[in-house]
Amino acid sequence: MKTDIEIAQEAVVQPIGEIAEKVGLKAHEIEPYGYDKAKINLDKSVDRQSDLGKLILVTSINPTPAGEGKSTVTVGLADALSLAGQKTMIALREPSLGPVMGLKGGATGGGYSQVIPMADINLHFTGDFHALTSAHNTLAAAMDNSIYQGNPLKIDPRRILWKRVLDINDRALRHTTIGLGGPTSGVPREDGFDITVASELMAILTLSTDLQDLKQRIEKIVVAYNYDKKPVTVADLGVAGALTVLLKDAIKPNLVQTLAHTPSIIHGGPFANIAQGTNSVLATKTALQLADYVVTEAGFGADLGGEKFMDIKVPKLGKAPDAVVVVATVRALKHHGGAALADLNQEDLLALKGGLENLGQNIKAMQRYGRPVLVAVNRFTADTDAEIKLIEDFVATLGAQVFLADVWAQGGAGAQDLAQAVIETSAQADADFTPLYQEDAPALEKLQAIVENIYGGVAVELSAKAEKQLTDFAQYGWDKLPIVMAKTQYSLSDDPKKLGAPKDFTVHIREFVPKLGAGFLVALTGSILTMPGLPKHPAALDIDIDENGQISGLF
Ligand code: ADP
Repeated sequence: MKTDIEIAQEAVVQPIGEIAEKVGLKAHEIEPYGYDKAKINLDKSVDRQSDLGKLILVTSINPTPAGEGKSTVTVGLADALSLAGQKTMIALREPSLGPVMGLKGGATGGGYSQVIPMADINLHFTGDFHALTSAHNTLAAAMDNSIYQGNPLKIDPRRILWKRVLDINDRALRHTTIGLGGPTSGVPREDGFDITVASELMAILTLSTDLQDLKQRIEKIVVAYNYDKKPVTVADLGVAGALTVLLKDAIKPNLVQTLAHTPSIIHGGPFANIAQGTNSVLATKTALQLADYVVTEAGFGADLGGEKFMDIKVPKLGKAPDAVVVVATVRALKHHGGAALADLNQEDLLALKGGLENLGQNIKAMQRYGRPVLVAVNRFTADTDAEIKLIEDFVATLGAQVFLADVWAQGGAGAQDLAQAVIETSAQADADFTPLYQEDAPALEKLQAIVENIYGGVAVELSAKAEKQLTDFAQYGWDKLPIVMAKTQYSLSDDPKKLGAPKDFTVHIREFVPKLGAGFLVALTGSILTMPGLPKHPAALDIDIDENGQISGLF
């Protein structure tokens, strides 16, 4: 069996100008980055259709190490829509180097449903993450320099929110001490690193509507508190212009193609467990203006990326999905039902039955928004007919349609039924979109709505610190901001060990992080971390390059 990268290396690649032409982008509207990648120029003169295309959101059950294949199904479904003669585009996130060198793998799909150039996209791509890392750390340096140069803003070094970032899984950098080395080397203080995708600048980049909006959001970032416990912002530090300059190209969406040459926009990459988990508003909007069908994906399960797509992205995008596809695999559902990872290739109807409720809760979470939900079973070779039938019967009881997606093995040809159903369903999606909460509802009300309606839990518990924060935030009106949950992806609860569909659980909020530029509060639950570590056997150990420049081991 060929690996993902072997399949990608055999691809016949079309020049990026031809891909652009398919959706009516003219030569002056793209900035080619070599042969097969381009940035889309956001110049206002770009001629776009005023009727937006249909938006299809792909989400999934709670992931397990067995893998769900959300990106694979996203790409396969888009290729199937293209095969059916529909003008289709993909809007995906950019991969982070952390997981690429760590555990999870890339984010370009798999098998015969991939976006290419696969290696470039998974590595440095068009440099967006490097630009974000540089901009983020420029701000950190400007803040520490202000403290060093007499501290005119009276920044309290014990109350700093803005850490440094790196696009690498490096647990040793979670807590650091900086400014050592005597009076000329800065003011000593505790610091730490997050992964770049957790940076507020990433959230801002993915929510901004244009360069000026980006700059205004950057100005609002709260970097620290002063000795009077008042917020200090980027506007106070005076570097919003410089940071925006560093991001002037990163804000432009990236154009690539699938193995079957479906035009694909890949832009922005916040994780869905610690940030808002969707690609950029600009990318999705651009795709909706260029194509009749746009297939997009939100990270991890419907409880994380799905919820954030609906509650954070939809209001900014001004459009809700016309259909939602929840991806499930027989393997992962068996794992949710108690089967060991080593036994997932054996038929096990009992374990599968035990895991189905995880799919059920994620379907209900999405149906709650008043949008039609379809289920795609991402077919693995070991799946048996009896197992697939069990899933089909279960889904039928929830009023959703279910389809087999054999896109990993067959590309778009493996999802023709699903594509047809998506076309029919999205044509009827005229029901009102039902938001989960009112935009200005108090934080506790929002949290309770998420826990009850999306996770299937019963209560929210705030730590003493979180409770005090909400009281402090009230004086600035921050307690009314939308909430981005930072929660484990493995469980519907905040305990990664509770698989399936746990009941009667309480979600514990240990701390809030105000992100004023992005316009939301991050609620840290359980023991979730914003700088991942590498596993015992990181993917980096298997990656190599030969004397001809041929890469191996990149999945
Ligand atoms: P997600 O988007 O849910 O994280 P991906 O689509 O990135 O998942 O897939 C993760 C990995 O699983 C990829 O390496 C892909 O090749 C593999 N994969 C996905 N679907 C299948 C399948 N049906 N059979 C075998 N491998 C698959």
